[in-house]
Amino acid sequence: MSRKNDDETNNHKNAYTCELEANIKDQSLNDDLYPERRQRIKKTWFENFFNFENSKKHAKRRCEQNATWCINNSPLVKIMLAALQASGCDFHIERHLACEYCHNTVSGGFDANFNQIILCYNVAVKKSTVQAVLVHELTHMFDYCQNEIDFNNIRHVACSEIRAANLANCSFLSAWYYGNASLLNIKESHKECVKNKALTSLVATKRFSKIESIKAIDEVFPKCYADLEPIGRRCRRNSTNMNLAFIEAPLYGYNYKI
Ligand SMILES: [Zn+2]
Repeated sequence: MSRKNDDETNNHKNAYTCELEANIKDQSLNDDLYPERRQRIKKTWFENFFNFENSKKHAKRRCEQNATWCINNSPLVKIMLAALQASGCDFHIERHLACEYCHNTVSGGFDANFNQIILCYNVAVKKSTVQAVLVHELTHMFDYCQNEIDFNNIRHVACSEIRAANLANCSFLSAWYYGNASLLNIKESHKECVKNKALTSLVATKRFSKIESIKAIDEVFPKCYADLEPIGRRCRRNSTNMNLAFIEAPLYGYNYKI
């Protein structure tokens, strides 16, 4: 068990950050993003009538299987886990990861109160999505453990969101999806994608306004965008960069052992 996991999780009350993968609409921000965590699941009459419990159990099991697959096979996830391990913050899937039902605008989250990653089994269905969510949230966990970020400090949160988007989410395809990438402006569009993603996640915490979030992101962007620790490089989806990063990881003391 890691030193942080037991000793320091209670020092950050109200610390709660979340991650939006899908496009969000403003009204969804008023909804509870993680109802299962807060025991606030309301069943519709349709769900009661047809008893969806079995299909939910099945989706939850599939989520746990996908997470286990990523932990055993994804180079990026393995680097993140090795870095946590090297920092004295071990990761145990049964303690530090929970597959839960979420609002349909979120695919995952990091609950700093419990030092636990939430994987939304109703949204993060594909292995590739599960990998992206895990790398993103493990970046928050790494920052919480190694860099001792304060989730009540907007500049700290902005920095962690920039790093997480940079390492996990903004492949060329994502940047293109956000509508501002072309083969000619890939570098600038990648930065814009990271900024957009960080802003979406910051606003989703419901603790920071859009205006103060934009200001904080601009202030910390150059330093935090350049900080690629612990992966060390930006990896395009399905590129050989992931394997290169994995091969290089032991050189930096990140040698993952289960
Ligand atoms: Zn995030």
